[in-house]
Amino acid sequence: MFPFATLLPPDWPTGQVTLLGDAIHLMPPTGGIGANTTMRDASLLTRQVIAVATGQRDLVEAINGYEVEMREYGAAAVRSALTTLRQGLNTNPVKLTGTRVFFRVCRAIAPLRRVSFRDYWARHTRPRPWEESSSTAVTPARWATGD
Ligand SMILES: Cc1cc2nc3c(=O)[nH]c(=O)nc-3n(C[C@H](O)[C@H](O)[C@H](O)COP(=O)(O)OP(=O)(O)OC[C@H]3O[C@@H](n4cnc5c(N)ncnc54)[C@H](O)[C@@H]3O)c2cc1C
Repeated sequence: MFPFATLLPPDWPTGQVTLLGDAIHLMPPTGGIGANTTMRDASLLTRQVIAVATGQRDLVEAINGYEVEMREYGAAAVRSALTTLRQGLNTNPVKLTGTRVFFRVCRAIAPLRRVSFRDYWARHTRPRPWEESSSTAVTPARWATGD
């Protein structure tokens, strides 16, 4: 067993340099969402850069839009991967037996399996609002609400 390093996206003043992927939200492989989150970063940052290139946004404003959004889903992904890791490393015999029984019952009863796991990945795989729109620039929610 080797230790997994993790990193919750820290807060910093936006400038002309930013980070994406494991460099900013490093997480254990449990859940298999590290590379997916990295690709989400790349997609979002690309939209922001296009918005700069087409004159819709100032560079720092665009990077800030990326960072505000990325911190939210990036931190959620790190927390989720850590939760899954802790569940996997659980050695309490009572909890282990309970978990095994639960998975066996779910394997045997399809409706229970569907109810239990249908939305398990949805919080990460569900498209973010900007992923559903054809518009390039992403405005942080706090600007949109005027907070
Ligand atoms: C065992 C394991 C299993 C995983 N399984 C999954 C999975 O199933 N699904 C999933 O979504 N994610 C998975 N991940 C996570 C995924 O691999 C990472 O989240 C993803 O690769 C991060 O991409 P990245 O581009 O940020 O960093 P990286 O893929 O680490 O890329 C960084 C690159 O920069 C290079 N580099 C570093 N320093 C320098 C330097 N000074 N100069 C030049 N180049 C440099 C490195 O060599 C590397 O090629 C897993 C991770 C591990 C460890």
